[in-house]
Amino acid sequence: MIRLIKNAQVFAPRNLGKTDVLISGSRILKIDSNISLETIGAQECVEVVDASGKIMVPGYVDTLVHITGGGGEGGFQTRTPEIEFDNIVRAGVTSLIGALGTDATTRGLADVYGKAMSLSQSGLNCFMYTGSYEVPVKTITGSIKSDMIFIEPVIGVGEIAISDKRSSQPTPHELARIASDAKVAGMIAGKTGIVMIHLGDEETCLESLHQAADQFAVALSQFYPTHINRNRTLFEAGIEFAKQGGTIDFTTSTNDSILKSGEIRASQALAKALQAGVPSDRLTMSSDAQGSLPNFDEDGILESLDVGAIDSLHNEMLRAVKSEGVEFSLALSAITSNPARVTGLHRKGQLKQGSDADLNLLDSESLAISSVMSRGHWLLQNDEMVAQTPFASAAT
Ligand code: ZN
Repeated sequence: MIRLIKNAQVFAPRNLGKTDVLISGSRILKIDSNISLETIGAQECVEVVDASGKIMVPGYVDTLVHITGGGGEGGFQTRTPEIEFDNIVRAGVTSLIGALGTDATTRGLADVYGKAMSLSQSGLNCFMYTGSYEVPVKTITGSIKSDMIFIEPVIGVGEIAISDKRSSQPTPHELARIASDAKVAGMIAGKTGIVMIHLGDEETCLESLHQAADQFAVALSQFYPTHINRNRTLFEAGIEFAKQGGTIDFTTSTNDSILKSGEIRASQALAKALQAGVPSDRLTMSSDAQGSLPNFDEDGILESLDVGAIDSLHNEMLRAVKSEGVEFSLALSAITSNPARVTGLHRKGQLKQGSDADLNLLDSESLAISSVMSRGHWLLQNDEMVAQTPFASAAT
């Protein structure tokens, strides 16, 4: 199947201007101005789409999603539900990485694997981290190395929790060992072996990561800390970490209660980090979707819970542009090319020859997502779900 999308304003995430994109099967064959079917000699099985008035961007890459649900920190009834395929597609996310959360006891990696495979077979690109908040980490096969080498969608380790009351307080040595295991397994399996680190609000911030890198033969950049916008102190520590070569991640899901307690909005954190001189390719945003977002009353008593939303990724990217004055291609790179690079998803997050044909079409006025393509297949077209999933008819 050959598809030719014409006349869109293409951000790759770099602005390529108004140009045409030719897709063959699951890959991008060519990006050029005025591609005609005659020149490529294609006659049959061709779809030509006129995307005038649309902006084309790479499909978003979300590096932290609790695909089987998270939460559960306020009793069993506060467990959050698993994510739904349609919500991921409508959010413009074509690649995502699943993880366990606080609860790695009543929830497990086998379930994360099953859900990841289900989402990929339905047309998305779902990967996963092995491991857990707690150290020693939970795995599927018994070790980080075997999980990464034998299980295709396992691209690294995460979320390992530090500087958090819910953490198992791992030592720098334990963190270095996890990073080394992930690195070696990554070398064997052709993966980056990134280690995603969950940061809580304890004042120790990123100290144990620096100690691990100082005391052992581990690169700081192998750790990928998230929730860096949780509070001002952690944000400042994150800026320093990024200036020393690491990539930092801001969480886009939030609510009023969390913002009131001192969280910096991801869009604002992105703008501030750029102003502080952090190289733009070391900044990413992820949704933390399906994680639980507590609402506390004045006395700090839990009142209710919200669930992290995957569409916050697109919304915070737009907010960075509209409210914080971040250049569109830079804001876009924080949810496309940068997260793809740090997690080793080399054919994702960019529109270029040879990349997977994962893309979104946005309305050029409202910037709303109207069409989503993954591996050369439309999942959403002109606001209509067109993906063929086994339960699609039951959901409508
Ligand atoms: Zn977390």
